[in-house]
Amino acid sequence: MANDNIRYDIAIIGTGPAGISAAITAKVRNKNIILFGTSKVSEKVKKAHKILNYPGLLEVTGEAFYEKLYEHLKMLDIEVTDKKITTVYSMGDYFALQSGSDMYEAKTVILATGVVNSRELPGENEWLGRGVSYCATCDGTFYRDKRVAVIGYNAETFEEVKYLAEIAKEVLYFRIYKNEQDELMNIESAKNIKIITEIPRSLRGEKTNRIIVTDNGEYSVDGIFILRDSIAPDKLVPGLRTDGTHIEVNLNMETSIEGCFACGDIAGRPYQYVKSAGQGNVAALSAVAYLAHM
Ligand SMILES: Cc1cc2nc3c(=O)[nH]c(=O)nc-3n(C[C@H](O)[C@H](O)[C@H](O)COP(=O)(O)OP(=O)(O)OC[C@H]3O[C@@H](n4cnc5c(N)ncnc54)[C@H](O)[C@@H]3O)c2cc1C
Repeated sequence: MANDNIRYDIAIIGTGPAGISAAITAKVRNKNIILFGTSKVSEKVKKAHKILNYPGLLEVTGEAFYEKLYEHLKMLDIEVTDKKITTVYSMGDYFALQSGSDMYEAKTVILATGVVNSRELPGENEWLGRGVSYCATCDGTFYRDKRVAVIGYNAETFEEVKYLAEIAKEVLYFRIYKNEQDELMNIESAKNIKIITEIPRSLRGEKTNRIIVTDNGEYSVDGIFILRDSIAPDKLVPGLRTDGTHIEVNLNMETSIEGCFACGDIAGRPYQYVKSAGQGNVAALSAVAYLAHM
């Protein structure tokens, strides 16, 4: 059962223009929603120097657009549940959403998770669930007093590294981003954490431990955590039809799984704010229509 004992009408994953637009429309249509995001508003929204093609917003900066989106959520009393969803299970007439040890339930799901920019590492798929994990909170306890590696694609992943360091004997932290924020996060002072800045080339599983191969050598560990901004859609929702990067959708933003919708960058190119927001609106209206016929 859900953590909060509620089966929501619509669970929306992602707080970019697509997810926020879906949440606004669903809320206006009086649906009981839950909006998940790893930040209040997608950090990608801040990236644009100036947005030139969003109707009604004249030459708005990414920063200002970010603030406007957040204001809109607040105005409608839409809270962001600051959780990373690791798996969505289709249970027939509802969905179970997992975030660490927390479970949530919803009758429909809208995926608005943006695109995964980094490529899958060789061996990643093969060893997933067998020593390779995407979630430190879910699987960290399996590695008590062992040696683990974390491949972190952004500074926020260091929070999970610190958690693992409390459990594991040693954590090798492969940092796949620029180190400007290290000082801020006090990375160097952490105990039993070794920072490695080489990019892993492959994850080579063996019987008792996994080997990470880099250009400069090999590291033997018991478990590997790969922590990115987003999870590949077919890993997030097992059984979902994708082309690897994007989820297959029709014009109603319906995916190959009934009751599951997708919008924004994750539903295909072009990668644009206005297209994402438009698709979020369509996905929400399709979910509302689906709920009416349940
Ligand atoms: C540098 C840069 C400049 C850009 N400039 C422009 C521009 O000028 N004009 C324009 O139109 N577009 C621009 N874009 C593209 C634009 O940023 C994207 O098209 C847009 O942000 C996509 O919105 P989205 O809602 O689909 O996904 P995103 O904005 O990527 O949001 C996805 C959200 O989902 C969250 N999330 C992902 N997985 C999970 C999970 N498992 N659980 C919980 N939350 C999750 C992420 O943390 C994120 O908050 C730019 C992009 C970049 C990188």
